[in-house]
Amino acid sequence: MRRPLLVANWKMNKNRAEARAWAEALVNDLGPDPAAELVVAPPFTALETLSTALSGSAVQVAAQNVASAAAGAYTGEISVPMLAEIGCRYCIVGHSERRALFSESDQVVSAKAAALLEAGLRPIVCVGESEAERKGGQTAEIVGRQLETSLPAMETPAAGDLVVAYEPIWAIGTGVTATPGQAQEVHEFLREGLRKIMGAGAEQVRVLYGGSVNPENIESLMAQPDIDGALIGGASLEPESFRQIVANCHLENSSS
Ligand code: PEP
Repeated sequence: MRRPLLVANWKMNKNRAEARAWAEALVNDLGPDPAAELVVAPPFTALETLSTALSGSAVQVAAQNVASAAAGAYTGEISVPMLAEIGCRYCIVGHSERRALFSESDQVVSAKAAALLEAGLRPIVCVGESEAERKGGQTAEIVGRQLETSLPAMETPAAGDLVVAYEPIWAIGTGVTATPGQAQEVHEFLREGLRKIMGAGAEQVRVLYGGSVNPENIESLMAQPDIDGALIGGASLEPESFRQIVANCHLENSSS
């Protein structure tokens, strides 16, 4: 069974005081044993603050990006060992904003995911098509290629550490969510792609949906058999909204 995973992606929002206040509010209102595994990805500057504020709680921290190199002359970069040192368990790689705004290729994303897995951290590898690509009937071709070339070569035992996020670009930050049927169709395609890449290990990989997830739509998305959780941007910024998403995410819906 794949445990549902909910990941809050704050993007470039919140300073450390705001991060601390979010953590305190969320932990206060969270039940003792949430059905889903919970992760928050703040900007780098708030990682250590959150790691401390959330220690002993059910919420883990993630980075939004990482370098593939471990150390050296890479001005402006942050390495996997640096993330591990401050208690990061997960890291988002290949978010569409990084692919579009910072020219990250599938190969760059794959190298980052490989570096994370080698160090025992869990990459959340994002894939997703643009509106024009969907309208042109290219969704399967685009996400299939991204899946094949963004995943590192890996041993099956590490499959449980791998997370894939399907994030249709047209649904990110737009308020337009993929219907549960549209999302399931792509998730099923991705699961089949994972089976071809890694065989039986594919059943352990969690495939998240991302794109305007909110407290109202999480339940119907999670009811789909191949949706194992969500990557949540805007609706994760307010602790109460994220808490409601957690409360509406039911364990039995995403078992396999
Ligand atoms: C995201 O940042 O990955 C995302 C899905 O954002 P939003 O939930 O705001 O669409």
